[in-house]
Amino acid sequence: MNIFVYPGSFDPVTNGHLDIIDRAAKLCDKLIVAVLINRTKTPAFTIEERASFIEEVLVGRDNIEVIPFSGLLVDFMKKHNATTVVKGLRAVSDFEYEFQMALLNKKLYPSIETLFMMTNVEYSYLSSSAVRELASYGGNIKDLVPDIIIDRVYGKYKNK
Ligand code: ADP
Repeated sequence: MNIFVYPGSFDPVTNGHLDIIDRAAKLCDKLIVAVLINRTKTPAFTIEERASFIEEVLVGRDNIEVIPFSGLLVDFMKKHNATTVVKGLRAVSDFEYEFQMALLNKKLYPSIETLFMMTNVEYSYLSSSAVRELASYGGNIKDLVPDIIIDRVYGKYKNK
C-alpha cells in the first residue's frame, strides 16, 4: 500500500490546496493530509477548525484521511508507513524553502521521496495568507476557498 502525506498549515484550506489533494490522491492508495499543530506563528484558525474544514470538504473520500501533527515530519511518515511527501509549488519563491526541506528530510530518512506538484494555473496566486487578508477587509473570497467554509472564514474577522 502506497501512502502519501500532504503536510501544511491549511490556515484555512484553499481551492489551491484542494486541487493538489485531488491530484495527489489519484497517485497513491491513501493520502494523509497532515495538518500542522504548531508553528512559530500562531495560526488564525485553531487546529480543530483547520482539520474539520478539510474533513467537511472531503467527506466521502475513502482514500483521504486528515490527521493533525506536530514534531518532525519524518517521524510522522514513519509512524504512518508513508513513502512520499507531497508538496505544491506555486512560484520560484516556494522553491528554495521546499528544496531545503526535501533534502533535509532525505538526510533524516533516506527512503523518503518528495513529490512536487505544480500548481494549477488558476490557483497560482492563491495562498492562505491572501485569503485571510482579503476576508479581514470583507473582500470576496468566493472561488478561493470551498463554499461551505466561506461564512466561517468571514466569521473569524467579525467584530475585530
Ligand atoms: P500557504 O502557503 O497557502 O499558507 P500551507 O503552508 O498550508 O499554505 O501549504 C501547504 C502546501 O500547499 C505547501 O506545499 C504549499 O506549497 C502548497 N500550496 C499552497 N497553496 C497552493 C496553491 N495555490 N497551489 C499549489 N500548491 C499550494
